Amino acid sequence: MLKEFIPMSKPLIYENDLNLLSKTILSGKLAYGELAFEFEKAFARYIGTSHAVSVSSGTSALHLAILACGFNKGDEIITSPFSFIASANAILHSNATPVFVDIDPVSYNLDPKLIESKINARTKAILGVHLFGQAFDISEVEDICKRYNLVLLEDACQSHGAHYQSKKVGSFGVGCFSFYPTKNMTTGEGGMITTSDKSIADRCRILRNQGQESRYYHTMLGHNYRMDEIKASLGLTQLKRLNHFNRKRDENAKVLTKAVNEISGLISPGALPDRNHVYNQFTIRVTPAYKLSRNELIAYLEDNGIGCAVHYPLPIYKQPIYKELGYKDWLPVAEQAAIEVLSLPVHPSITCRQLNRITQALLSA
Ligand SMILES: *Cc1c(COP(=O)(O)O)cnc(C)c1O
Repeated sequence: MLKEFIPMSKPLIYENDLNLLSKTILSGKLAYGELAFEFEKAFARYIGTSHAVSVSSGTSALHLAILACGFNKGDEIITSPFSFIASANAILHSNATPVFVDIDPVSYNLDPKLIESKINARTKAILGVHLFGQAFDISEVEDICKRYNLVLLEDACQSHGAHYQSKKVGSFGVGCFSFYPTKNMTTGEGGMITTSDKSIADRCRILRNQGQESRYYHTMLGHNYRMDEIKASLGLTQLKRLNHFNRKRDENAKVLTKAVNEISGLISPGALPDRNHVYNQFTIRVTPAYKLSRNELIAYLEDNGIGCAVHYPLPIYKQPIYKELGYKDWLPVAEQAAIEVLSLPVHPSITCRQLNRITQALLSA
């Protein structure tokens, strides 16, 4: 019997949410307008910042956030080598230089102990990534930023609603979010910048709209990175459900963790102090002590109709485009993670029966 395939991700969209969506489409007012403005206000309130600027993707959020800080060619921004490539690319697109610092083996996020050795006179910012749904060590990184007068940028594209101590990620520095369909909430393609710095928000708004300060009066070299009303109407309803989605992810993760912890050689995601986990990805480690290689486990899961994925198979500095740019880093913790990680389905569309199939498959591999 052919088993129904369990995908790595599937956004949860409700019939009810189509009401606002169809009303929006039928109104004919489709470009950035009232709904996008309302979505920005609601998102800022949710994250806890004074401003939120909607954009066309997480990548454009990162690009504009970095541009708005006004770095110059040759300025260096410290970031993680273990992330989706967009985090580092946004630095390159802004003419600054990404400098990679190795990660912590449990959180997969920047290891704050290793940051200072990479700081020099050209260093202007730290772009940390809250990877897989869990905050990086914000206190430690904030301290370093204060001591060296660096801007703090947060790639929160996988961590909508995650908190650190009493605040949500994206409210510490300039926050960048993605609403791509694999994320904790979706608008299709889409993104958001969060900040309580009015001048950064103002510059992001201008840069997002062709550098236009007033109608057909352009003071900056901008882009068309606007969000449209169709995406914004989906975003408004998704935001209302985000806490529910994150609770489902957490419940699914608890079940998966219990199974993984019974299996020798597999390691479940680590829980860290002062923060929760919103499990954009449930990423395990397949260590050499496990009976199968990672590739064998992937093949086994796929044979059983279970999707899985490697986030990420290469540290960013090893990507061909970065090698071409002259990057020669070799950061041991990121290298090891790239060899061992494997993400399993954890999204809120998984049914109990599917979750059971995943744990049974793992336990009987
Ligand atoms: C998804 C993602 C991005 C890019 O977002 P898009 O909306 O796909 O452009 C950037 N950084 C991280 C960590 C991501 O997961």
